[in-house]
Parts: sequence; structure tokens; C-alpha cells
Amino acid sequence: SLKGRNRPFFERALLENIKIVVPAAAIARIDILFGRIAARLEEEANEDVLRDNLQCVFGIANFSFTFLLDSDFTKLAEQAVEILKTKDFSTFRVTAKRSDKAYPLTSQEVNEKLGALIVEKFGKKVSLERPDLNCFVEIVGARVFLYFKKEKGLGGLPVGVSGKVLSLLSSGFDSPVASWQLMRRGCNVDFIHFHSYPQTSRESQENVKEIVKVLNRYQNHSKLYLVPFLNIQKEISAKSEDASQRVILYRRFMMRIAQKIAERERYGALVTGDSLGQVASQTLENIGVISQAVTLPIFRPLIGENKEDIIDAAKQIGTYEISSRPYDDCCSLFLPEHPETRAKLDVILAIEKKLEVEKLISDAIEKMEVATISHI
Ligand code: ATP
Ligand code: MG
Repeated sequence: SLKGRNRPFFERALLENIKIVVPAAAIARIDILFGRIAARLEEEANEDVLRDNLQCVFGIANFSFTFLLDSDFTKLAEQAVEILKTKDFSTFRVTAKRSDKAYPLTSQEVNEKLGALIVEKFGKKVSLERPDLNCFVEIVGARVFLYFKKEKGLGGLPVGVSGKVLSLLSSGFDSPVASWQLMRRGCNVDFIHFHSYPQTSRESQENVKEIVKVLNRYQNHSKLYLVPFLNIQKEISAKSEDASQRVILYRRFMMRIAQKIAERERYGALVTGDSLGQVASQTLENIGVISQAVTLPIFRPLIGENKEDIIDAAKQIGTYEISSRPYDDCCSLFLPEHPETRAKLDVILAIEKKLEVEKLISDAIEKMEVATISHI
């Protein structure tokens, strides 16, 4: 659907992404032609596997399994009749589309001539509104394709064309969905997770790794930065008698650490799963004070989403089950019953004055582990 000078760049990116997910043995050749990508399949290619794979590729609006017909109308009509012998239908229509205006017949003429032939050969009825079988005929250059179904793709933009971002990933429901939405807009997403090991179990880190694996179905592979956060939490707790401010302080440190890594590794933005008002830490005031810890843009794609819709999305994406597992979140450590919902920057800055902010950050980054994670 793209026009203009960027189009070849997007098409190449999409082609490369398709090649990554589709088993190499399934495809004999694959080409870009007039706004389509056409792959010639090998005999042994498995449609179900291909369908599952293609439904994870951003940038595909729809796709079809097609027959390649001769471009000469008499021959293609004969071939179409042969193929239709294998189909069970009582009503049908032909829906022709011509990308090549040099073809001797117009789309309407193809509809009429092929339609008449099918009526004559099979004695079936035309139904333009509700046919049992819709025969799509697409004329693209010298090639003519016949198919019966358009399968829906994910839409969006090919992963990689928009650059790369760093997503703050917990093992909850929200941040995996937020990350996925950035992939949908063409970003490569890498992940950063803060953990309180050994205060919390290794298991929560394993859950995060599993979530990353699922998300990588949509982008192949990614990096996961695992940052030890316990020491920072202990320091914050020691220096803030007013426990209600702690979550905000935790979040500001997470942002600063993420930004440090983003500067070093050239990520264009940070991503979180915040949704306005969903929990106490996600009020307008708190989000404002948290954002002021850094200068990099922070993308919060779920800010206006309802929880039920986020849960539905997590089910679709495949992260729901892992996020449902009970886990001990680092952020629940040392927290009060009544956290601040109206953070004030001066109160926060006064506490941070008592902390060795830069040293805490560089210590955490020094002890950070980096994993490269592929898809399942
Ligand atoms: P989620 O479902 O993503 O855990 P949440 O509703 O539990 O979100 P919070 O716990 O307030 O909300 O976290 C808000 C956002 O902060 C998360 O969506 C995530 O982007 C980030 N975040 C929270 N905890 C961590 C963590 N341990 N490591 C990395 N990022 C985190
Ligand atoms: Mg959470």
C-alpha cells in the first residue's frame, strides 16, 4: 500500500523478513512484482506451517495460496476449469484484477468470459453477493494468479524499517504487548529487565526469557539486558523514610539505566507498558515525574488501552500464559501499602540528593548480563 520513493526499501525489508521465518526448503524462488511478493513453493511445502509463519510477519496485509496460470486467456481458462473440478461449490463469482493495463482483456471482460465458461462447463450459478466460491484472478505483468481465499496478515510495517528501541520488560501482561506494538510499527525491539535476585527467585528471569522468545517470533532474535536492581532498591529504602515515594524512585532509576544503555547502543526510544490510572504508579503526576529522569522519548503505546483489551492482545500474541504465572516482581519489594499517586518532583529530587545516583547506575550496569535470544 506504500507509494513513493521509500517503497523499494520497505519491500526489500519485508522480503528479507519473510525469508527469515519461512523454511528455506519450502520456497523455490521469491520475487517482488508490482506491489506483491510472489513465492514459488516447492512440492513438499506445508501450507499450514507457512500460514502460521506468515501470520507473524509485520508488513503483510494479506496473502493467498495461488495457482500460477498461463497468461493467454484461452489457456488460462482451460487451466481454471481443471482446478475447479476439485472444488465443491454451487454458487460462484469471478473477481478479476489487472495490475497490467497492457493485458488484452479488461478485468470486467475476464469476469464475464470466465464466468460464462464456468456456467457452461459446470452448470453452476453466479452469485455476486454471497458466492460459495470466489475465484480471484489477478493479472500481474505476464503472470496470472488464481486463488480462492485471502488470508489476513498482521499489517503494520516490516520490522527494522523504523529503527530500534529498548523496551522495559517485566513478566506482567502489559509490557510484552507494548513491545509487540512497537514491532508492528517497524521497530526492532531489544529488552531490559530489572531483577532483585537473590531476594527474588531465578524463575522470574526465566519467565522473562520465555516471553522474549515468544515475542521474537515476530522479529527473529533480540538482546535481553538483565540488570541487578536489589542494591539500588536497598539504597532507596535506606534513604527514603517516606516509603510512599519508592516506586517512583525505582522507576526513575530504571529509566536512567535504560537511557545509559540506549545511548551506548543507539536505541531511539524507551518503551513501557504503562496504562493511565491502571495502578497507583501510573497516574498523570507520577508518569510526569518518572519521565523527567531522562531526555530520551518514552513510548507508552498502551496508555489509553483498557486492561481487558490488553489481556486479549496478550492471548493473541502468545504471552498471556507466561504472564499469568505467579512471579515475584522486583518492584513489590520494600513497598508501602499506600504508594504516592501524586508525585512531586521537588520531593523526589530531595531524596535523590541523598543517593549516589551515578555510582549506583554504573555499578548496576557493570554487573548487568546480556543474553541474545532467538525465537522458538
Ligand atoms: P506490566 O504488566 O508490564 O508488568 P504493570 O501494570 O505491572 O505492567 P508496573 O509494574 O507499574 O505496571 O510497571 C509499569 C512499566 O514499568 C511496565 O509495563 C514495564 O514497562 C516497566 N517495568 C516494571 N517492572 C519492571 C522490571 N522489573 N523490569 C523492567 N521493566 C519494568
Ligand atoms: Mg508489572
